[in-house]
Amino acid sequence: MDFDLTDEQKAIRELARRFADEEIAPSAKERDEKEIFPDEILKKMGPLGFLGGPIPKEYGGAGLDYIAHAILTEEVGRACSSVRTTLSVHISLAQLTILKWGSEAQKKHWLPRLASGEILGCFGLTEPDTGSDAANQKTTALKKGDRWILNGAKMWISNAGKAELAIIFAQTDKSKGAKGLAAFLVERNTPGYSTRDIHGKLGMRSSNTGEIILEDCAVPAANLLGEVGQGFKVAMSGLDHGRYSVAAGSVGLIQACREASVAYAKERVQFGKPIAGFQLVQEMIARMRVSEDAARLLVYQAGHLKNRGRPDTIATCIAKYFSTEAAQQAAMDAIQVHGGYGYSNEYPVERYLRDARVATLYEGTSQIQQLIIGRHETGISAFV
Ligand SMILES: Cc1cc2nc3c(=O)[nH]c(=O)nc-3n(C[C@H](O)[C@H](O)[C@H](O)COP(=O)(O)OP(=O)(O)OC[C@H]3O[C@@H](n4cnc5c(N)ncnc54)[C@H](O)[C@@H]3O)c2cc1C
Repeated sequence: MDFDLTDEQKAIRELARRFADEEIAPSAKERDEKEIFPDEILKKMGPLGFLGGPIPKEYGGAGLDYIAHAILTEEVGRACSSVRTTLSVHISLAQLTILKWGSEAQKKHWLPRLASGEILGCFGLTEPDTGSDAANQKTTALKKGDRWILNGAKMWISNAGKAELAIIFAQTDKSKGAKGLAAFLVERNTPGYSTRDIHGKLGMRSSNTGEIILEDCAVPAANLLGEVGQGFKVAMSGLDHGRYSVAAGSVGLIQACREASVAYAKERVQFGKPIAGFQLVQEMIARMRVSEDAARLLVYQAGHLKNRGRPDTIATCIAKYFSTEAAQQAAMDAIQVHGGYGYSNEYPVERYLRDARVATLYEGTSQIQQLIIGRHETGISAFV
């Protein structure tokens, strides 16, 4: 086992860290306060290859291996979880799903535009009445001639208001249940397709979240992604990548919590000495460091499997479950280290907590990750 990063992975870490420190972190507070989407940051990320990291070069991506992809995601997550969420959806849920399931024509048409940042992508699985039970899609797709007519609504979709391309999951035949599902590539300008932004989120306030409304939205038959009946598999394979990205971003968030806490604890003096010298403060900092290392190793373990094309669903669920829960704990501890100051936006740790909170919910809640891991261990599904 080799724990050393390759030269390319080290170079990505350095490049991404510099970019994140100079271009992402400085505006994070204001973007969070005013719910400003990071358009300008994304424009700068495109030419650096940051918007299509793991996409092969032949489709316009940077051709990064999955560990390097995680490193880039960590660094972005360390600076701003909202930008990281935007990337997780655009790269991992949208592009990697097209890479796996798209026809050659679909890949050639969409991936270069997505990977360069010319357009953004999103992933429409969740509906107003369908969350964890993702197979139970209410959105319908009816074949009429050479078109599929989509009707329904998608809820809580990251990038919805900004994406030019959405992967939409829909039911083609209710009697078939999960085996009737299909995935479609739907362009924003398709008649019958509209979006509505959701405001007032607890965190991730600089990311865009919205509803997608589909009213007799006629999609060309050529935009079917995979085959009819494969929709659930398409969705789950997308989540294998999305969860990996969320886990990596959470590692970055834990690191941000640790770094902020160490810096503050060394400066803050109580009882005549820096609070960093108190054992109970060091306990919290040690917990952050241990969870950061453990989370990172779990992410890289899943990345190692991805690099070799081996099944990674369970390793990814373990990494996502652990990292996102650990990030929440780290953010709680970081506020504790900062005392009353941690409770105000004078310091970034209150944003870290608000941002960390959603990661145990989206891309499958912690309960859903536990059920997937539990099913793997026992051979018994607790879902039905
Ligand atoms: C900011 C944000 C961005 C998002 N981005 C996207 C996106 O880009 N694309 C997309 O498709 N979705 C997105 N989502 C939706 C997200 O994936 C869902 O919110 C999530 O899957 C949970 O679904 P739900 O909210 O309907 O909760 P529910 O499924 O209603 O769950 C509610 C509670 O019940 C628990 N629960 C449910 N079933 C079980 C069970 N069998 N056993 C034990 N407990 C259970 C859950 O763990 C949870 O605690 C986003 C959500 C948010 C908040």
